Amino acid sequence: MLDLDKIRNFCIIAHIDHGKSTLADRLIEYTGTVATREIKDRMMDTLQLEQERGITIKLQTARLKYKHNEDIYTLNLIDTPGHVDFSYEVSRSVAASEGCLLLVDATQGIQAQTLTTVYKAMEYDLKIIPVLNKVDMDIAEVDRVKREIIDTFGFDESEIILASGKTGIGVKEILDAIVEKIPAPPKVETNETKLLIFDAFFHEYKGVTALVKVVSGEIKDRQKLYFIGTETEVEPIEVGYLIPKMVPSLGLNTGEVGYIATGLKDIHQIHSGDTVTTVQHNHGHILTQPLQGYRAPKPMVFASLYPVEANDSEQFAESLEKLSLNDAALSYQKEYSQALGTGYVCGFLGLLHLEVTQDRLEREYGIDLISTSPTVEFKIQLTTSDYSKVPNINTRNIDPETNMAIIRTAAEFPDGSLFTEVYEPWVKLDIFSPEEYIGPIMELCQKSRGVYKSMSYISKNANGSQHAIIEYEIPTLEIIVSFFDKLKSLSRGYASMDYSFLEYRKGEIVKVSILVNDEAAESLSFLTHKDNAQRRGRDMVSKLKELIPRQQFRVPIQAAIGGQVIARENIDAYKKDVLAKLYGGDVTRKLKLLEKQKKGKKKMKAIGNVEIPKEAFLAALKVD
Ligand code: GDP
Ligand code: MG
Repeated sequence: MLDLDKIRNFCIIAHIDHGKSTLADRLIEYTGTVATREIKDRMMDTLQLEQERGITIKLQTARLKYKHNEDIYTLNLIDTPGHVDFSYEVSRSVAASEGCLLLVDATQGIQAQTLTTVYKAMEYDLKIIPVLNKVDMDIAEVDRVKREIIDTFGFDESEIILASGKTGIGVKEILDAIVEKIPAPPKVETNETKLLIFDAFFHEYKGVTALVKVVSGEIKDRQKLYFIGTETEVEPIEVGYLIPKMVPSLGLNTGEVGYIATGLKDIHQIHSGDTVTTVQHNHGHILTQPLQGYRAPKPMVFASLYPVEANDSEQFAESLEKLSLNDAALSYQKEYSQALGTGYVCGFLGLLHLEVTQDRLEREYGIDLISTSPTVEFKIQLTTSDYSKVPNINTRNIDPETNMAIIRTAAEFPDGSLFTEVYEPWVKLDIFSPEEYIGPIMELCQKSRGVYKSMSYISKNANGSQHAIIEYEIPTLEIIVSFFDKLKSLSRGYASMDYSFLEYRKGEIVKVSILVNDEAAESLSFLTHKDNAQRRGRDMVSKLKELIPRQQFRVPIQAAIGGQVIARENIDAYKKDVLAKLYGGDVTRKLKLLEKQKKGKKKMKAIGNVEIPKEAFLAALKVD
């Protein structure tokens, strides 16, 4: 059994790309936990995509052995994902730790995520060890960034460790600081067993595996366990710890970090932040109070994904299922679109999550996908409890007590007489930027219906320029499409942002219907705020004018709210004759051409007697 006093649990918090994964590898290597050769294998184990993009999608945790003043310490490194979409996951890693390394890139300085995660670490009373990373680089601004760290968080200059995950500078100093400064896990005077889950993954042979920290009590190998939040009882296949390879053990005691391989097949039964307890405490009813801070995974962004090739449909379904084995946050539901065929409405934690998922499906499973423009979940107050009047809304998504319905697509939007209010999700948005970009940033937020909350300045640098942190409340719908790209471009890449869900608020959301030759094209219709309806309607109509080929008759394209037309274009008539260009005798060529045209037609969908090529649909749905 490990001596509690000789355990240190810590995570590394940093803005994306500040070098967390690289430093983690150096720590593992230095403590000799695995041979250097194995580190390479481990790196190769991780998702190809993760390596290419440098984004840590899955947490990785490792138990390190470190000798300090003749004593052997057990250091549990808890890796954290590095992007705003995963801020809840980061908070669970923080909750499982007693201390953290605050990593700041010496060439970049403090960024939005540095700030928000530090506040999280402070909230959980973590001992914070500031580390200035990448000091090996010529362009490192050691003094400036040091000052920034001191001014922003109130550290003492002597506390800041200069390091490089690349060359290994400062690694020993960091390990010593972890032992000396981070407290051992607290002794808890209780015989109630409680473990905090801070991540889970799917193991091919051992099933869903939860990564846990034992907050109090202990578990023994093969002892029956109970997951409070998901109400799941399990007889584990194995418990143990990671180095980062899985090493089975006879049990886990208070303060230890390790894993529970459950044998379960469905990762949606195991949630980050949930509490595990021993089943003896739960004869039919839960006696053990769960640990605080648990939240069921909640997707924020939704988009429909369709395979470009209709015959990829089955394979697409299988791939989605496989992918969601390892991703509790990914949700999906089958959907049929008149224009695009069978697809899935998928729920994501955020835009990056969507992008990564789509990339993996295309790359690892070789399916060409198209995604509709991302949207959020609206709540809509129905005035009727006769749900046959809203046939497009799945009754599972209506609360019969309140008649409040959850919808995501324009097709689900009911007739104006059937509802009173629409509610949309809002987030708290923190933007961190050099002061010269404050003006344009505020303009962008204002245009995106943001509500200004506060601004403060930090850290004047050598040339007297300062950084500002600007806080807004803003509708989620406004930031999920091109907001981040706009922020980056207007600040020449210097501004960064972080967001977290706030609440649902009443919003003037309208459905913009698109009509082709006077017939509604449901797959092209969309939901938007009324202030943006005119502009977006006009954009869509003029895009379609370019994309839809001329017909033998004039085709009006309209955007309308209810019965009111807000934008209109006409596609002029054109008599199409593919054979006109061909003079004379080459019959085979003629036939080929006709065959080609027939094939092209197969892919088209007719709306209002107008055949619209699938490519036109795709291009129209693509975000500007
Ligand atoms: P993470 O997103 O915080 O996990 O960052 P990574 O560890 O993936 O590093 C981001 C990039 O910075 C990679 O290209 C690394 O090779 C590079 N990098 C990380 N640490 C150092 C360092 O100490 N010095 C230098 N020169 N480059 C580094
Ligand atoms: Mg990383």
